[in-house]
Amino acid sequence: MKVLIVGGVAGGASAAARAARLDSSAEIIVFERGEYMSFANCGLPYYVGEVIKQRDSLLVMTPEKFKGRTGIEVRTQQEVIEVNADKNEIKIKNIESGEVYSESYDKLLLTTGSSPLIPPIPGVDDPDVMTLWTIPDVDRIKERVDSGIKKAIVVGGGFIGLEVAENLIERGVEVTLIEMLPHVMSTLDAEMSCILEDELADKGINLQLANGVTEIKRDSGKLSVVLQDGTEIATELIVMSVGVRPNNELAVNAGLDIGDRGGIKVNANLQTSNADIYAAGDVIEVTNPILNAPAMIPLAGPANRQGRIAADNIFGAKETYKGTIGTSICKVFDLDAASVGPNETTLKAVGRDYLKTYIVPASHASYYPGSEPLFMKVIFEKSGKILGAQIVGRDGVDKRIDLLATAIRTGMTVSDLAELELAYAPPFGSAKDPINYVGFVAENIIKGDTVPINPDELKEGDFLLNVCEYDEVLCGTITGSLNIPLGELRDNLDKLPKDKEIIVFCKVGLRGYLAERYLREQNYNVKNLSGGYMTWKLFNRDGIKTNVKYAACENEASSVSSNSDAPLELDACGLQCPGPIVQVKSRLDDMTEGQELKVTASDAGFYNDLPAWCESTGNTVVNLEKSDGLVKALIQKGTSCTTTANGAMTAMPKRTTIVLFSNDLDKALAAMIIAIGFATLGHEVSIFCTFWGLNVLRKDHPPKVKKDIVSKMFGMMMPRGAKKLALSKMHMMGMGTAMMKNVMKNKNIDDLPTLIGQARLMGVKLMACEMAMNMMGIQEAELLDNVELAGVANFAALAEKSGPVMFI
Ligand code: FAD
Repeated sequence: MKVLIVGGVAGGASAAARAARLDSSAEIIVFERGEYMSFANCGLPYYVGEVIKQRDSLLVMTPEKFKGRTGIEVRTQQEVIEVNADKNEIKIKNIESGEVYSESYDKLLLTTGSSPLIPPIPGVDDPDVMTLWTIPDVDRIKERVDSGIKKAIVVGGGFIGLEVAENLIERGVEVTLIEMLPHVMSTLDAEMSCILEDELADKGINLQLANGVTEIKRDSGKLSVVLQDGTEIATELIVMSVGVRPNNELAVNAGLDIGDRGGIKVNANLQTSNADIYAAGDVIEVTNPILNAPAMIPLAGPANRQGRIAADNIFGAKETYKGTIGTSICKVFDLDAASVGPNETTLKAVGRDYLKTYIVPASHASYYPGSEPLFMKVIFEKSGKILGAQIVGRDGVDKRIDLLATAIRTGMTVSDLAELELAYAPPFGSAKDPINYVGFVAENIIKGDTVPINPDELKEGDFLLNVCEYDEVLCGTITGSLNIPLGELRDNLDKLPKDKEIIVFCKVGLRGYLAERYLREQNYNVKNLSGGYMTWKLFNRDGIKTNVKYAACENEASSVSSNSDAPLELDACGLQCPGPIVQVKSRLDDMTEGQELKVTASDAGFYNDLPAWCESTGNTVVNLEKSDGLVKALIQKGTSCTTTANGAMTAMPKRTTIVLFSNDLDKALAAMIIAIGFATLGHEVSIFCTFWGLNVLRKDHPPKVKKDIVSKMFGMMMPRGAKKLALSKMHMMGMGTAMMKNVMKNKNIDDLPTLIGQARLMGVKLMACEMAMNMMGIQEAELLDNVELAGVANFAALAEKSGPVMFI
């Protein structure tokens, strides 16, 4: 039998190797248009980053070695230019000599792969616009990087784009990553991609999301990219990684059946519409068995398996390919992101019913160093059938996704996951592995033992109950939620409404579930927030910080006041959240202002919790790092640390509170100008207006409101609104004030109403003291819109969390 194989990398080489084992007497020839066969295309990005140091390591196999091992001839730099399916013959062009010749076949296998898409953008043909697909591609990119370029742009936030971006950063290149969609890595749903986006930003990548490239410019030798929003970014290299298209030209010209998205149609035996022609790898359309629909899923694992199955069938077997479920994983700096099966976006688009759950377990026993949270999202059916899963984390992502892929492939249900007996010792997992947990939670949902609510289903006005410990809440909570720690719930039932749905949550969902069960027994209407606060943060992110850098204060002028005493030490290893925080609090309570505490914890969550807790409690993180699987922190009691020389940390709460007591024009102006100043520094600024200060908030033309006689008189005697205020000095029957307004106008200084508007635009919160309003007979309708009414307790709570508090 004579078998010809077109394409000599993943699918082709794998098919050839299998064929040689099946029939050593067969004549098998592989044609590869490139210079190299069977090279490690998946390793290319890491060669750019010099993680893979030797170029030769990428060349997994040479034609000579392959011939020696298998007897198969691999002809490189030979491009197959035509398939004559009627005559069972192909035409080949020798790329070096230009000679064209023919070969006949009994069976032909097309493994021509795919090629990177080049979008038709003006300027895309510039020599510094490159793609990464082959060895010559990587040589070109590496040469540019080795030449010492400072800036590069990667277009496309899929696997390859992310890997290239990471490796360019490893080489010290400043990277902008441009993605037309709102999120990177479209195999993940948005809330899961966000975790990666924070990691990319933390690692210094300039992320441009939902912002495509419209033009590539070369002006006076300088290269730049213009984005949809008009931004222009200068660069020295552009790597395009916006997707792939199947290399289907031979198949199209041979008249083979082609799918809607360009993939060669094959049957379950990987046979094309011509019985003598098989196809495998990126070039074929596969079936996604979960959706029972055709799909293009270009991955190395499926290509290799398909190559092997095609070879089996060419030599007479009847092996079936069971479809591709898209199991994939990608390293994004310190994070790993993996998925299998369709994501929620796809399921919604095809109108499929599904249930989902989020869990955030520790990758292994959290008392053993190196444990990290795993963000897991699992999608399943009411029947228990698993449809898909997504996992992002720093440890143990690969084995969990592979377990879920195996479960999907073998038709296991979520209940089967609960029963899996998995290898356990503290460095590797937990006695109840995250995969078991997925099973427990999903089973509970199906049985109705828990009624979950997903973070994206919360509505304004929901009654939220946080059952975390008080100190945990200082590390962050959902605004407006009530906090009753789980252990205190029984004694505080009177604080919970019987006539309203209660949404209970904890940090990751487990204590929330316990509270949910207990409250339901007490006849409360209750749901548990799936994945707890940590998952809610993914949907409501002003950044779930995955890797915040801190550094010791170095600059004397702006440093933590030096403390000559050696820091006290706290070993919080083995404690799980909130244990380390509780211990830190208890030790700091006994320390004096300025004293330092060195903490070591094995709970990975402590890394994110500590800065938030210190910010809430006015303590200072001097240094925070992860090493040897432990979180190590140096904390200083008190708030003396401001920004460090390298801008690493400010423990001083970025909040400023102003009490505006006066209704003098000059004082109100000063208050607004100061508020705007602090707002520009990124502070949350609140102005609490009380007594005469309330007049600043009054409308020029308030609606008619009912008032008693005293209130009416008060109202008439006091200035109505910002335009009517008078100077505290030199008012001179109005002349001084008019002069001042004139001077301000001439000097282009905004008037008070404009400054109030500006302050509000910058997020400055205006609050009116309810008690003073009562006394002075001012009603809410008379005040500017969206002024918050607040009591002294609100003010005190604000002031307590505030940096500067000013009284004007
Ligand atoms: P290929 O391996 O691309 O081989 C096709 C070959 O056919 C090519 O060498 C081509 O030159 C040759 N050819 C095409 N037309 C002709 C012709 N007319 N005549 C002769 N020869 C021809 N997948 C993963 O699963 N995980 C990863 O981490 C991963 N990382 C990747 C990183 C990079 C940078 C790249 C480029 C790909 C990566 N992939 C990854 C994808 C994976 O490499 C492909 O899915 C896989 O190689 C597809 O195998 P294939 O045999 O279909 O095509």
